[in-house]
Amino acid sequence: MKQILKVFKNFNFSKEEQEQNQMILDMVYELAMNEIIEKEQDWDEEGAHFDPQTKQVDYPSGMMELFKKCQENDLFAIIVPEQYDGFGLSYTLWTAVIELMARASLAFSMFFPSQSLSIEIINNYGTPEAKEKYLPLLSSGDAIGAMAFSEPNAGSDISAVATKAEKEGDSYYLTGNKVFLSHGGASGTNIGLAVTDKSLGPRGLSAFVIDPKIAKDGYEVVRIEEKMGLHGSITAQVALDRAEVPKENLLGKENEGLRLILGSLASSRIGIAAQSAGIAETALQESINYANQRVQFGRPIGKHQAISFMLADMATQVHQARLLYLNTAHMKHNGEDTQIESSMTKYFTTEIAQKVTYDAVQIHGGYGYSREYRVERLFRDARVLTIYEGTSEMQKMIISRGTLARAQ
Ligand SMILES: Cc1cc2nc3c(=O)[nH]c(=O)nc-3n(C[C@H](O)[C@H](O)[C@H](O)COP(=O)(O)OP(=O)(O)OC[C@H]3O[C@@H](n4cnc5c(N)ncnc54)[C@H](O)[C@@H]3O)c2cc1C
Repeated sequence: MKQILKVFKNFNFSKEEQEQNQMILDMVYELAMNEIIEKEQDWDEEGAHFDPQTKQVDYPSGMMELFKKCQENDLFAIIVPEQYDGFGLSYTLWTAVIELMARASLAFSMFFPSQSLSIEIINNYGTPEAKEKYLPLLSSGDAIGAMAFSEPNAGSDISAVATKAEKEGDSYYLTGNKVFLSHGGASGTNIGLAVTDKSLGPRGLSAFVIDPKIAKDGYEVVRIEEKMGLHGSITAQVALDRAEVPKENLLGKENEGLRLILGSLASSRIGIAAQSAGIAETALQESINYANQRVQFGRPIGKHQAISFMLADMATQVHQARLLYLNTAHMKHNGEDTQIESSMTKYFTTEIAQKVTYDAVQIHGGYGYSREYRVERLFRDARVLTIYEGTSEMQKMIISRGTLARAQ
């Protein structure tokens, strides 16, 4: 917490804003480190649920109670504009909240980046009707925001989306399969891409807000993934079978969906960087505690240079990760173009999370490989960070293209 506030002091927040930031972060820290962290191991063991008969999904026990606490504390309203029942506060603060949540549980923190991306996309590209309807719901947390881009043949290349959208009267009807949908089946809004004009290729995709309440039986969970980590988070495969989407849920103009989504994804990646700093910070703290207490060859292992230098590297890397995500978040808050910087931030911090959680297991020795110790879960959970919201390879492509173009 102190480390985050130290960085905040360098930003152009007024005294009132600094006080408000501190008050919110204190509250989030209490919630994360006293209540959410208590449940993290149980959620990993229990995992998310899916009933193939009823097609209902569920988060592990107690997760929604803590989600409700976030609602009661108005956490999802932080970055929603005031006219839509939000507080209109900074993206910098929002990402610091994500870091604190990820320190307690990466699975729980999954509610946050997709919520802000949904808010941002609907606020920037939604029709007046969609904004009026969905932004207050996302602000209160009564709707969980989800992203439905990935499909069986569209992963890194989301332009390969095959779901088709047919316009009939005042609605579109979407048919196709969405995979790896975080919160799928539990979400109130799903931002998705579908083909509206096949002859135009990737330029013939449109973006929509798919509302399961409107789509009814046309939106059905087929299965949920059994994953290496992040067990408490729902990752669903969803079948869309003539899922109805009213025309006011079209985002931007028809056939402009890909540009709109790629542009929005570019800056949302800072949230994944904040998750990375959070999980790495916890791996570091667990390692420091263990290194102080585990004695081998007559002294705490932290006094052996190999371990103390490993801790020095980990602490430096966590600091770098935090500086980077907060700085890029603040650039975004100040309205600067962060397309390349967001990719650099996502790439660098997610790779750091791999390194730090790997070293945390090493410092714990055989115990680090045991389920009894937290670093085992941190290592498994962190693995996804270099994969979702664009793999490290995709980030490097964006960075290299961008820097080459800037040089010209
Ligand atoms: C837990 C979890 C949650 C997720 N949540 C969501 C979600 O909510 N919504 C959603 O839409 N998706 C979600 N995803 C999907 C995620 O975004 C994709 O898995 C990711 O974008 C990679 O796509 P892919 O898995 O199809 O891999 P592929 O695209 O098949 O890539 C496989 C490998 O090839 C590399 N590769 C691909 N193309 C190139 C290239 N041109 N040059 C060099 N290397 C290349 C990749 O970097 C990767 O290493 C989630 C995934 C997971 C695991």
